[in-house]
Amino acid sequence: MFKRLGQLGLLGLTKPEACGGAGLDYSYSLAMSEALGHIECGGVPMAIGVQTDMATPALARFGSDELKREFLAPAIAGDMVACIGVSEPGAGSDVAAIKSRARKDGGDYVISGQKMWITNSLRPTGCACW
Ligand SMILES: Cc1cc2nc3c(=O)[nH]c(=O)nc-3n(C[C@H](O)[C@H](O)[C@H](O)COP(=O)(O)OP(=O)(O)OC[C@H]3O[C@@H](n4cnc5c(N)ncnc54)[C@H](O)[C@@H]3O)c2cc1C
Repeated sequence: MFKRLGQLGLLGLTKPEACGGAGLDYSYSLAMSEALGHIECGGVPMAIGVQTDMATPALARFGSDELKREFLAPAIAGDMVACIGVSEPGAGSDVAAIKSRARKDGGDYVISGQKMWITNSLRPTGCACW
């Protein structure tokens, strides 16, 4: 499904053209969301919405060129499934109670903690979490 959506250009409506997006304004995303609302299954529009409007906007806005090349372009093409891990066993709505930490170690970040209820996180291939 993601690959087909990517081929149709529907995963990057508001994303920069340099990354394979269409560079359109947000009204196009609203029109797409309205259309997805006709699907009689909550999980499918949720999965698509997480890809287009939760997991990738910050990457498009703040990501380095390298990160955009590695993750954003394949997410727009439908080759990579994206998710956003906020909720934890002890922190749902209360985001300030999050316990996970990222510790810098040389050129890497070592991440510790637990995440739960992460839409799109269980895809068997091409899954990237950020
Ligand atoms: C289908 C689905 C997909 C999800 N996908 C993701 C995902 O991709 N990534 C991710 O990070 N998380 C995801 N979640 C988790 C979701 O974001 C959390 O469930 C949500 O943040 C609520 O947390 P909680 O379930 O722990 O409820 P709680 O935070 O325990 O809240 C319980 C109840 O208390 C109310 N409440 C909480 N705080 C207050 C307050 N301060 N004032 C008044 N009322 C309050 C809430 O409205 C709710 O009714 C998903 C959840 C679902 C159901």
